Amino acid sequence: MDDFYALCKKFNLRATPQRVAIYESLLNDTTHPSAENVHQRVKKIYPNISLDTVNRTLLCFSEIGIIQTIPCSGCGRKYDPNTKAHHHLKCLTCGSIFDFYDARYDRLMMPAKVTKDFTVFTKRVVLSGVCRQCKQKKRRNYSHGRIRTKN
Ligand SMILES: [Zn+2]
Ligand SMILES: [Zn+2]
Repeated sequence: MDDFYALCKKFNLRATPQRVAIYESLLNDTTHPSAENVHQRVKKIYPNISLDTVNRTLLCFSEIGIIQTIPCSGCGRKYDPNTKAHHHLKCLTCGSIFDFYDARYDRLMMPAKVTKDFTVFTKRVVLSGVCRQCKQKKRRNYSHGRIRTKN
């Protein structure tokens, strides 16, 4: 929370009670929620807050580095209060996003053809695949199927 107030002050963003509530609802959240998820949570405290306000606040937070956004193809934008350098695994079956840390990925070398015309600020890797839970569920379904066909 101290970092939050410090960054608000640095960027002249007023720490209004609604903004504080939006940030608090994200704090320690590792599930990478969408703006809709955050809106549902904050609505419990501020029933009149609009999704638009939540959306704009989250974008503003990410612009000044209070939170990270994860560009996510096919699932809209997701938000992450963890601003440490890290990368993401996206499950294509259940849509979950998991964190992973890898120092080599943090130091990814950019190809010269990219840096020639483009200045890279952040390097975040999103790997897509199937998570352990979905893999286990799939395996269980298969074994059930096999039992059924035997009978
Ligand atoms: Zn999954
Ligand atoms: Zn993350």
